[in-house]
This record gives sequence, structure tokens and C-alpha cells, in this order.
Amino acid sequence: MLIVDNDVLLVERQLRQGQLICPSCGAVLAPWGHGQPRSIRGDLGARLFLRPRRTRCSGCKVTHVLLAEVFWPRRADAAVVIGAGLEIAALGMGHRQVAAHLGLAEGTVRGWLRTFARRAEDVRRHFTVALVALADDPVMPDAASSAFADAVSAVAAAHRAAAMNGRTSGGCDEWPHMLTVSRWEFAGRAIGGRLLTSSSSAI
Ligand SMILES: [Zn+2]
Repeated sequence: MLIVDNDVLLVERQLRQGQLICPSCGAVLAPWGHGQPRSIRGDLGARLFLRPRRTRCSGCKVTHVLLAEVFWPRRADAAVVIGAGLEIAALGMGHRQVAAHLGLAEGTVRGWLRTFARRAEDVRRHFTVALVALADDPVMPDAASSAFADAVSAVAAAHRAAAMNGRTSGGCDEWPHMLTVSRWEFAGRAIGGRLLTSSSSAI
């Protein structure tokens, strides 16, 4: 699985021109059909539909699905929706309050918050490294009230830095649209979709 731009035409062009790289071995990915259509909940209850592009590595021959950055792997809600929930929770609200704010089921939100809490230190570390790489004069966020909130702050700081210099680090592509991509779409792509997956080798 590889997180890519939301622009389907741009991704298709990148794929055809051999610009997409296997996350396992670094060889070029080639077109390999499509996956099953799927949909997720977007902002304000809108449904977002996608037919994921499948690719096959020219080196290790492993197939990889390309997932637009609006999606996070194995989640039924868009990155911006889940991210909004994480930000509300970082303010100190529990899953019931977050679910009420977003109009979603409590169990869904509880799952996000529990998983992100387990991932918080890895996420904080990843985006602190990204911040240092991206910013000319990196300003570390102040320590927050919890590891969870520290991780949310680190994502926000790295996104600001990326938006300011219009590029990203960690082996990702150039980001010509960096000023318009949302914080949590940036985050999912920058960490290979591993914001809410417990395994560090989920790519
Ligand atoms: Zn490969």
C-alpha cells in the first residue's frame, strides 16, 4: 500500500511515467489493474468514492494498492474527519464528547482514540524528525498535557513547516499542492498511512 495524491489524473500520469516507487524495495511500480470500489464518510456526512489503483513492483513483484491521501487504511472515515476527532480529543475531551461533536458512533471514535494513543510516541517522534528536516529554524511545540496531545501538536508543527517550504521529507514526492492539502492528509501520506495502525510495518 502506498499513499498518493488525491488527484487521480496526476497519480495515473506519475504511474505511467515510472515516478511511483515501491515502498518495499525502491524499484518502479507498474500499472496492475484496479481494486474493488469503496466509499468512506467525508466532511459533513458526504460520501467519497474511490476505485483504488493497483500496481506491481518491477523489482520485487509485490502488488501495492495506491490509496489517495484523503483515505487512511482500513478506516471508514476520511482523514480530515478522523483528524478533527483527534484534535478535539487532544483538548482533553473523551470519546463520547468527540463522537457527539462529529455526529459519529461512540465505538468508532473510541477505536480511533485508543489506537492513536498507542501510536502517539511513534507519531510524535516521526513528525518531530520531519519538522527538523522541513523547517529552516524549527520551533518545537511546547509539551502538552499528554503524549496524545504532544503527537497532535507535532503533526500540526510539521504540516506548517511543510506548507511553508512546499516540500516534504522522508522519501515522499514533491508536494506542489502542499499549501492546499489538509493537515491530516499530509500526515497520513508522510507516515505511510500508519497513524491508526498498530504495526510499524503496515505499508
Ligand atoms: Zn518492490
